[in-house]
Parts: sequence; C-alpha cells; structure tokens
Amino acid sequence: MDTFHSTERLYYADSYLRTFVATVVAHGEIGGRPAVALDRSAFYPEGGGQPADGGTLNGMAVADVQAEGGVVWHSLVRAEDLVALPVGAAVDGLIDWTRRLDHMQQHCGQHLLTAAFVAACGLATTSFHLGDAAVTIDLDVSDLTAAQARAAEDLANAVIWEDRSVTARFVSADELASLPLRKPPTVTAHVRVVSIADFDHSACGGTHPRSTGGVGAIRLLRWGRQRGGVRVEFACGVRALAAFRRLSAAAGGAAAALSVGADELPAAVDRLQASLRSAQKELEHAQIALDAADAAARYSEAEQVGAARVVCASLLDLSVERLRRVAQAIAGRPGGVAILGASGDRAQLVVACAPDSGRDARQILQAGLPLLDGRGGGGPTLAQGGGPRTEALDAALDAMKVAVRFAPLR
Ligand SMILES: [Zn+2]
Repeated sequence: MDTFHSTERLYYADSYLRTFVATVVAHGEIGGRPAVALDRSAFYPEGGGQPADGGTLNGMAVADVQAEGGVVWHSLVRAEDLVALPVGAAVDGLIDWTRRLDHMQQHCGQHLLTAAFVAACGLATTSFHLGDAAVTIDLDVSDLTAAQARAAEDLANAVIWEDRSVTARFVSADELASLPLRKPPTVTAHVRVVSIADFDHSACGGTHPRSTGGVGAIRLLRWGRQRGGVRVEFACGVRALAAFRRLSAAAGGAAAALSVGADELPAAVDRLQASLRSAQKELEHAQIALDAADAAARYSEAEQVGAARVVCASLLDLSVERLRRVAQAIAGRPGGVAILGASGDRAQLVVACAPDSGRDARQILQAGLPLLDGRGGGGPTLAQGGGPRTEALDAALDAMKVAVRFAPLR
C-alpha cells in the first residue's frame, strides 16, 4: 500500500470499456467496508457530481468506488470477499453498464444544458446534482421564464442531434490558458479538458459518450426558486424516455377515465371543474331549502317552556355550518330556542335563542360542554362549542334541555 501511488484510470481513454483485467495491488478500507486497489481500473470513483460506478470484481459485487490521492478504491460488500482477492491476484472487472450509461447521459447532458443556458440566455450554472431520483442544475438568476427554458432546451437538443464529437485530453498549463473554459479549473497542472466540438470546453474527470448523439435527448421537467437562484430539474436519454413513459401512462389513464384523447385533457378538466362548481352551488341551494324546512317543522312541534319554544335534537353528522343555519332559523321565530348537536370526529353543539325567549345561549351551552370535555363560547343569542366525547352527546343535550327550564332568565 505504501509503494502504490496511482491507479491507471481506463475510463479516461475509453468510457465504453465494460470489462477489464487487472491485478490487486493493495488492501484497505473505505467507509467501514473492506476495499481493494488495482493497478488499473475502468470503475469511475464518485466525484465531480457524478456517482460511483457499480459492477463486480471476479463476480463479487462492488459496493462503492472512491478515489484517495491517485488511488481508486473498490469497496466490497462482504469482509470475506477480501480473502478471495489477495494482493497480486488477477481480477476480471465488469462495469454495470446500465448504471454507467445513465450517468454518462445525465452528466454529459449537464455539460450541454449548462453551455446552452450561457449561449441562449447568458445564465451561468452554479451547481449540479446527479442522484438516483433526479438530476438538477442551479442557475445564477432570480427567475427563469418559460421562453428562456425553451430556448436553452432547444439549443441543447440541436447540439445533441448534430452528433458533435466529445473528446477528452490532458493539456499543458500554456494550452489551458488559451482555452475558453466555461469555469476556471481548480488546478493548473495535468488538467483534463472535455470538449464538445465548437460548443463547450470544461475541465472534467467524468465519463462522456463519444459524441453528443449518445445523450439521446434532453428535457427540462420543472424548475423553481431555490436558495436565491433557480433549480432546474431535467432528464436525458434513458431518463427522458422513462419520464415520458410515466407522464404518458398518467395522462392516458386520466384521459381514458374522462373518455377523451390525451390532447383534450385540459379542456375536459376545465369542463369537469365548471360542472363540479355548478353542482356544488345547486347542492348548497338545496341544503339551505332543506334546512329551512327542517327548522320550520321542528319549531312547529317544539315544546313550550314559559316564553320559549324549545327544539332539542341531535342532527347526526350535519356540518357545524348547517347546524348553525338550522338553529338560527328556529331562533328567528317567536320564542325560538334551538339546542342542536352533531357528532363526527368530535361532538358539536350549537345553541341559538330568540331575544323574546328570555334565555341566554351561553348559559345553556355551559350546561352541556363539561359532559363532552368540551370548550366553546359565544353571545346571548348564539353560542357553540365541541368536545372529544362523542358518546356523551345525548347526555349533554338532555342536560342543556333541563337548563332551559331552570337557568335564570336574562
Ligand atoms: Zn464531464
């Protein structure tokens, strides 16, 4: 381990290399896992915003790949795997190509999109994230218009479909100074420059397709303000196809449910919302009429207690708003006193008293609330409250009815 200083990185010269033969040169530990260093490797170690490759060494799964100094460490899933890979042993390496191709497409797509935002809108990229779930760049701007997003997306796709060459090489400090790099590199010696012909030069150690056509297509999925800039989520190649399939399935399902074509969905949803609004309005009108009739019927059969005509009833799962409406309609009649309850998740009480009933709604309510472990309040003509003990609603209504008889008059 002391005598080994750097791994030959085979992906620098050929990012399409999926299998290779190498020799184990050292054992170590990465992230608490046993790891091996090889004299040469096609595995990409996590860095520059690109996740590590997956794959196998002699058929044993590689859990993670990290670079330390110039050495690429391949961590193994099981400690006993290290025994099977002694220093000096020959290994067959196999790269998980599905994962690598995905990373190459998203990563190179980011080069294209970042350069396209500069060329089309003069907007710089401040950071890049490539994860399993999403790929994003952050733009140095407070707001992004749909026209700007469209212009950058169009330009990036035009460069993809021109299938321009993507080349990588190490350059001298002199040549580096002469190149129009998008962003100055953090080192000046032994810098790898990735060039998209006549479009972009970036200092980068990542893996890229040999030409822009390998990115397939690029699609902006959404964007929004984030930490003073704008975060743009996008998908390239296989991920763009997967995103299109997801959206097609969702739109197709919704269109089938509405018996329209997917292109007619917006108009169909507008119609549905308009018809829902009109149905809600009709329902509300019907409920108002029903509540008024209910109040009239209950009032006509109400018990006379002195000056008060008392309606005491449990109206099942009526909303508090409708309880109040029925109670106020009863209290709008001579001597009307309404003591109404309903129970849903909580027990609800509403008390309304006509001024000429001589009763105070707050005092009647206070006779029932303790039985519900409830809280509430109001004025002399209208009070309401509720509590968690729904099973005590009938007992609370009985106590309130008794209170009408014995509570002091106001
Ligand atoms: Zn790159």
